[in-house]
Amino acid sequence: MPLGRKALKPKISHHPYEGLAVADVLGCNIHCVGMDEALAIAERFLSERTPRHIVTADASAVVIAQRDEEFRSILNTADLVVPDSNGVVWACRMLGYPVRERVAGVDLMDRLCRLAAERGFTAFFYGAAPGVAEAAARNLEAAYPGLRVVGTMHGYAPDSEESSIVARICALRPDMLFVALGIPRQEKWIHRNKQALGVPLAMGVGGSLDCFSGRVKRAPVWLRERGLEWAYRLAKDPRKFRKVAMLPNFALMVLLQSVSRRR
Ligand code: UDP
Repeated sequence: MPLGRKALKPKISHHPYEGLAVADVLGCNIHCVGMDEALAIAERFLSERTPRHIVTADASAVVIAQRDEEFRSILNTADLVVPDSNGVVWACRMLGYPVRERVAGVDLMDRLCRLAAERGFTAFFYGAAPGVAEAAARNLEAAYPGLRVVGTMHGYAPDSEESSIVARICALRPDMLFVALGIPRQEKWIHRNKQALGVPLAMGVGGSLDCFSGRVKRAPVWLRERGLEWAYRLAKDPRKFRKVAMLPNFALMVLLQSVSRRR
């Protein structure tokens, strides 16, 4: 049993949907959902047809939110914030919140594409290097017959093209929009354009398009189950060091938060 888990009685607020508990991790709202609940909420967003924003929060997102007020405010007003990493799941539990499981963004995107195929929803993939979104779309359409990715766009266009990208997505009227520009750029992009886009479900997906395109391999399941996906990603891509280097700081801040709560 981790330090003081039982002794903690956090003040739990509730998500407007399904009355789910909302965890406060270092001032960031994380919704205490598992995969099935996240999918049920996503289905509701798709039927309600108002623009909604899903954030997949990992430890780096929480650390970035400590110094980036705009990002923190976006995270705290998003329609759904899922616990994307084992680090965030650990932090929620450490602070006494009832988080059952990790909801990895890449897995949620995969399940949403399956749902889209089954229910006739369309999708748009925006972001990653040229060619990646198209390859991801081809692979997912092959995996889920019936899935229609109505458009793709790489993530390296100049900022001056933002309004024409938004207009293009708008014209295609997708039900789901997956944006892969990295944290916090993708969340800021979605937030800025959410109303203009009018897409019922928009979600930042980081490196997921790279995974679905086949260019980046996910860690083997046995490593994921042991919470070591970060080590695999670091070994494959040393540029991930900046992200991994945030983990000790994150853990320390969470420990301090849990200690200060028990005072
Ligand atoms: N990316 C992009 N445009 C940029 C910077 C990044 O499209 O200007 C893409 C990059 O190619 C990658 C994704 O954003 O596909 C970020 O992936 P990463 O795994 O770094 O995301 P994280 O989940 O760590 O934020």
